[in-house]
Amino acid sequence: MGRVLRLDIAGTPTSWLSREDAALLYVKDLVLWELGEKGFTMRGGLNRISGERSHLDISPVIATKGDIKGRRSLMGFNNRMLFRRDNYRCMYCGQQYGHVNLTRDHVMPRSRRGKDTWENVVAACRRCNHFKADRTPEEAGMALLAVPFRPNISESMFLAQHKVLEDQMEYLERQFSGKRIWSAA
Ligand SMILES: [Zn+2]
Repeated sequence: MGRVLRLDIAGTPTSWLSREDAALLYVKDLVLWELGEKGFTMRGGLNRISGERSHLDISPVIATKGDIKGRRSLMGFNNRMLFRRDNYRCMYCGQQYGHVNLTRDHVMPRSRRGKDTWENVVAACRRCNHFKADRTPEEAGMALLAVPFRPNISESMFLAQHKVLEDQMEYLERQFSGKRIWSAA
């Protein structure tokens, strides 16, 4: 099920909305502008006078007034976002894996005060993570395939949402740093 990408007045992505929450913003007249052609259609009840069924067209990208919540959720990250950042590829052996076979590896190990931050974590398969253990990649003789980095706002929005529609990708992509190549699901 696709979600609606919410932007603030300045066009900065702020959250992913359910269609129901997006519909509420339309009804409250809080939508300033919208982007994207293939929208979602919400069907409402029958109009008592005309007998027609009401409907509301919702764009995949909407800029809105009003309280912006959800920004806080972008501060943190989970394994799903991390694995997506690294394209589900072990950053040591280069193989692609499913979610269950990947782990969060701390490049500088936690036991040696390595931080749990975007810049110090990579996706690693269980085997590589186990082999590396409490060592740095140098000590373990393992080369990192790519430098871990903190995604910017648009990249975080992309990583947080499994199903990103074409129009949404097109909008978010403009602000991508180009450190990784991703494609919309
Ligand atoms: Zn590996």
